[in-house]
Formats: sequence, C-alpha cells, structure tokens
Amino acid sequence: MIKTDKSKKLVEMASRIIPGGVSSPVRAFKSVTGCPRIIEKGEGGYLHDIDGNKYIDFCCSWGPLILGHNDPDITKAVKDQIDKGMTFGTSTEIEYKLAEFIVGHVEPVEKIRFVSSGTEAVMSAIRTARGFTERDLIVKFDGCYHGHSDHLLVKAGSGLATFGQPSSAGVPADITKNTIVLPLDDDEALEKLFSEKGDQIAAVIIEGIPANNGLLIQRHDYMRLLRALTEKYGTLLILDEVITGFRLGMGGAAAYYGLHPDLITYGKIIGGGMPVGAFGGRADVMDVLSPDGPVYQAGTLSGNPVAMSAGLATLTKLSNGKIYSELEENNRKFVSKLTQNLDKMMVNIVGIASLYWVVFQKDIPRSASAISPNGIAHYNRMHERILNKGVYLPPSGYEVCFISNAHTEEMFEKTIEVLTSVIKEEAHEWV
Ligand code: PMP
Repeated sequence: MIKTDKSKKLVEMASRIIPGGVSSPVRAFKSVTGCPRIIEKGEGGYLHDIDGNKYIDFCCSWGPLILGHNDPDITKAVKDQIDKGMTFGTSTEIEYKLAEFIVGHVEPVEKIRFVSSGTEAVMSAIRTARGFTERDLIVKFDGCYHGHSDHLLVKAGSGLATFGQPSSAGVPADITKNTIVLPLDDDEALEKLFSEKGDQIAAVIIEGIPANNGLLIQRHDYMRLLRALTEKYGTLLILDEVITGFRLGMGGAAAYYGLHPDLITYGKIIGGGMPVGAFGGRADVMDVLSPDGPVYQAGTLSGNPVAMSAGLATLTKLSNGKIYSELEENNRKFVSKLTQNLDKMMVNIVGIASLYWVVFQKDIPRSASAISPNGIAHYNRMHERILNKGVYLPPSGYEVCFISNAHTEEMFEKTIEVLTSVIKEEAHEWV
C-alpha cells in the first residue's frame, strides 16, 4: 500500500492558512478521490512526493515542461541569469532576444509584449483589441478557458449565442454583459451572431486547440470560417496559444490550421517553467499600447530576466524540430497502443502533437456540450487507483495530459500497463 501520511498531514496544516490548502483550486483534488500529493522534486519525466513515492508525470506543470523536469540546459540558463540578478525593473537584452526569437518564428507576431501569466496575457490582449477597434463586445466559446480575468469568467446560458453570466462569485454581471458566449463547432451560430452584431464585436478569442475542458480539436473549415467572418466585420481574432504555443510545433496552432490571427497570447512553454505570459501580433494593433498609444498596460516583473532566460533556452532547444517529431511519434505510438488494448471499451484516447486526453465515451467530442459527464465521472473515480500505481494524471477528467521529451519508452510502457489494467477493472463496475 502506497504511503501518503506526510502529504495528508501537510495538506491538513496548509488548509488552515491557505484557502483549500492550495494556490490554485484544481490542485486540491476535489474532483477525484485521494489526497493531493505534496511534491518534493521533479526529475526528467518523474515527480517525487514527500512520502518518497515516484510518479510518471503527465501533468508537466500543466504544460510548460515540454522538456521535462530540470532539463540541464534550462537549469543552467536560469542559474547563469540568477548570478547576474533576479529582476531589475527595467529592460534587459535577454528580453529582446526572446522577443526577436518569437517574432522570427511565428509569422503573425510582428510585435510582442511580455507579462507574468497567461491570464495577464489574455486580459491585456482583450484590452488592446478593444482599444484598437473602439468596440466593447467580445466573443468567447463555451469550453474554452482563458485565465481568470473578470470578463472571461463567463459561462454559456441555454441559448445558442448568449450574453455571459458570471461563472464565479465576485464578478459583476455588468462586466460580463459585454462577453458573448458561443458553442464551439457550430457554423450556424457563428454566422448568425456576426450577421446580427459583427460590427460591434471587438474580438473573438478561441484557444489554439481547446484543451482546458477536454481536448476539443476543431475542424479546419470551422477555423477558416471564424477567420473569414472576423476579417469581414473588422473584428480581431485572438488565438489563445497559452497551451498550444510552441507545443504544436514552432508555429503553434496558427501554423497547424494555416491561420493568421490578429493577436496571439502565450504563457507556459515560453517561460520554460518560470512565471510568464506574452501577447503579440499585428504591429498596427500592438502600437495602441502605452507608451506609444492610449491603451495602458504594465507590470513590475514583466519580462523578468530569469523567466526570459528559461524561455529562450527552451525555445532554442526546440527550434531544430527534432524534439517535436519525436514527441509526436511517441504520443502517436502510445495512443495507438493504448487504444488497441482498450478495443471495444467505451473509451477514446484523443491525441494531438504532445497532448492526449482519456475520455470515456463512444464519440470524440468537438464541443463542451458533447462531453459526457458520466464519462468524466468514470475518469475521476479511477484517478486515485492510477496514481497509486505510479502514474500522475491531472486530477480531473476535463483536463488533458502533457508529454515531454523526458518521457522514455519504459515510462510509456508502464503507463499503458497501468491504464489498461485500471480501466479494465473499472469497466466491470460500470454495469
Ligand atoms: N489561456 C489558456 C488557453 C490556458 O490554458 C490558461 C491556463 N491553463 C490560461 C489562459 C491562463 O494562464 P495562467 O494560468 O498562466 O494565468
């Protein structure tokens, strides 16, 4: 039996001084059974907890760690920078180098600005779009997450296109009244909204590949329609690549779809594991930002040199393309082997690039409403058993799994063995 005494004790103590014992809610394991594991260290593809257990980590800090834990090149870049200082509150050369790198590799990004989180990147991109277009309305999709800024914490109502209801206490309805929520994968709803309100919409924001509420891979023609309609009505298209940026290859989801968004938001991988975010895109749009333009945006730690160093080292390592093709090949093999093992069971392993999602339903969903809550409940019930066998999957069936280039063949084999046995066990209990 796996020991979790130390984790349990610490979680209990922490809950007295930190709400829910966590700095971000999903870490509290409320959707699954079992105790959150308190992590002591990461090592390649493994997480080690304070009770001495070791797990194959498919959470990878929710995406930044495409090179695994403690990649020596990234660690060295960070240490070298720390020796020179942590933050100066003014510009550094490393910040220009990372900007130059991203602008040089991502065609739609002509100018970029750094911030400290994905939330901040999206919040700033929305303000920029509103400032540029001088319009207030924004459109988001049911099932896409864009961080926790007020105007994006919105859930869809029952209609096709609805004005957003706040999905969190503390968010005034007055703020979300300018956010329209559409279902994903619905051409008609999109066309109808644009024909009615297109010229009032500042921006449409969509995740590169929606990956915060299942892995909802969109049709290429749907994304093309989105681009065509936004262009027609002078609405800016913001592609939120906080997850997909530099994960779906150097050009991210924009390149995957052959799409040219007006703005792109980043986080996660571009900071190599340090807190970071960025937004960038058309030069004429970015030029509305302060100090050149009227849209205010700022940050004490924006462009932090340690984060910039970790990010540049990560992107440089990824830039020869070899790592992407290996990741893709490993994921493809893993997904197809696991799918074969679970043949005829009510489960799909959805995979793309270095992301996969385990979903317990017959058809692969492309929109939030097509996800079966029952299937999610199956995942949530078996999570602890999987964890106790040494495989760390994200603690909610709505979350996707990330692979890194530190995941070895042996780790994939063990994961296939564990998932196959636990899913088969669980399947007996479905009837
Ligand atoms: N956008 C997307 C697509 C995300 O996945 C996330 C975080 N999961 C965010 C924005 C918010 O980023 P952060 O947690 O760094 O604020």
